[in-house]
Amino acid sequence: HHTMQKKYDTGLMWFRRDLRVDDNAALYHALKSCRQVFCLFVFDTGILDTLPRADRRVEFIRESLVDLSGQLAALGQTHGVTGVSLIVQHAEAANALLATASELAAQAVFINHDYEPLALQRDAAIQTILAARGIALHSFKDHVIFERQEVLTLGGKPYTVFTPYKNAWLKKVTGEVGTPYLKPYPTRQYGEALASPPPDFRQAVPTLQALNFEKTNLSELKIPMGASGGDALLVEFLTRISGYRDTRDFPAVKGPSYLGVHLRFGTVSIRHLAALALAAQQQGDEGATTWLSELIWRDFYAQILSNFPHAAVQAFKPEYDRIDWVQGDEATTLFQAWCEGRTGYPLVDAAMAQINQTGYMHNRLRMVTASFLVKDLGLDWRWGERYFAEKLNDFDLSSNNGGWQWAASSGCDAQPYFRIFNPTSQSEKFDTDGKFIRRYLPVLSQLASKALHSPWTTSPIELSAAGVELGKNYPYPIVQHSEARALTLQRYEVVKKTQA
Ligand code: FAD
Repeated sequence: HHTMQKKYDTGLMWFRRDLRVDDNAALYHALKSCRQVFCLFVFDTGILDTLPRADRRVEFIRESLVDLSGQLAALGQTHGVTGVSLIVQHAEAANALLATASELAAQAVFINHDYEPLALQRDAAIQTILAARGIALHSFKDHVIFERQEVLTLGGKPYTVFTPYKNAWLKKVTGEVGTPYLKPYPTRQYGEALASPPPDFRQAVPTLQALNFEKTNLSELKIPMGASGGDALLVEFLTRISGYRDTRDFPAVKGPSYLGVHLRFGTVSIRHLAALALAAQQQGDEGATTWLSELIWRDFYAQILSNFPHAAVQAFKPEYDRIDWVQGDEATTLFQAWCEGRTGYPLVDAAMAQINQTGYMHNRLRMVTASFLVKDLGLDWRWGERYFAEKLNDFDLSSNNGGWQWAASSGCDAQPYFRIFNPTSQSEKFDTDGKFIRRYLPVLSQLASKALHSPWTTSPIELSAAGVELGKNYPYPIVQHSEARALTLQRYEVVKKTQA
């Protein structure tokens, strides 16, 4: 391929949520079709300005860029190109992209699709401006296996129910020889096209301070970062994947992969993960089968957002927007208590401590805390959705929205509204020995396991022996579950009436 005629002399690869070299669709196409390729990342002030000053995601990105830049340099080296590095800017994204493309005389810009509403607007605007300057924009599917309308019902409609979607997804993936949808893009073969940026563009990745952000506790959490970190996590998870189905519901157990944040920022390839899981499934591995199904949920919610963009702001099922949520001061008080883990329900409070302290929350607990916000506190699911969006390292609009609408019963394939989690029995069932609760609520750690799930039912003697003073160092329950449940059924009546 050295002598092959290339379509462009100079191309610009713009990294966004695809911070890796291996199996990157846009990077592959850039390297293949350009004589020389420069690589850019922009810390978009349009996004950064809206974030709190301490944000683990910004730090994760920053560290991942250092890794990416190193990987690009190393790949250049193996092809005899020295001085390759990632160009990193801190500015409004469209401006920075245009200026860089012009100054480097790029004839084409390469990106991977981003499906979130604001990103779609941004990319459409950028396409217009680039076109006006005669610069091509090439955008590729990379973030999901199937996007938008690639998997449709026999009637040609998007699926709104998961199981038939999953079956169609699996059929499509395995239906063609060599499962082409999971094939990696061999970027490394084309590394000789990487170019060393001119001196003006050779700066180190900016520090957090330079970006106007404060350091978080991310480094203490020991989350492996960058594509190297993603690889390391994956290698470790593959030793446990067979146990996934049996362990994934217990928050005190190391059951899940913790790869969410890497999928969010593209420091792992979804094709690579799906291919590994599929291969294991074909060997009869039930853990891998369940895990693959979770990856398919991710695609499912992504296509829901693409095909039903109203769901980003409204109930997927419109009748659920008629529900009267608790409002005013009462709502604010309840919401604050939920955010800060002061509901008096230990499993809920421990889960909120987990998200607040680490930016991660176990999937079972996302369901429990979401259900609690909506069906015990009577609050609008969008409030919880927004809080998770701010806190989760793996925040993804489509999956977060899907999860919240599932819990609120307003979603496409949601749990029925009359199914209401009991926070105490969830606790007894999924954290029986209280290992998770003890870890995140040290104040309760001396209580016996039986008492841990509902301290308010425990005798004063037992409480004081364990150093727990209800109303002092741990709250009484802010709502009583059976009452809350009855209120919720009433509140949701309006849905039934309109459905009938
Ligand atoms: P694993 O169990 O190892 O799963 C592997 C991957 O599969 C995940 O990383 C994720 O990409 C995907 N996945 C797993 N479960 C789901 C699911 N139910 N829906 C969609 N994709 C799934 N996931 C996010 O990626 N971002 C979010 O913002 C998000 N918000 C959620 C909010 C609520 C209320 C609920 C109930 C779920 C949410 N999820 C979200 C889904 C799920 O909880 C997380 O993907 C998972 O806990 C991440 O941890 P992990 O990487 O260890 O997952």
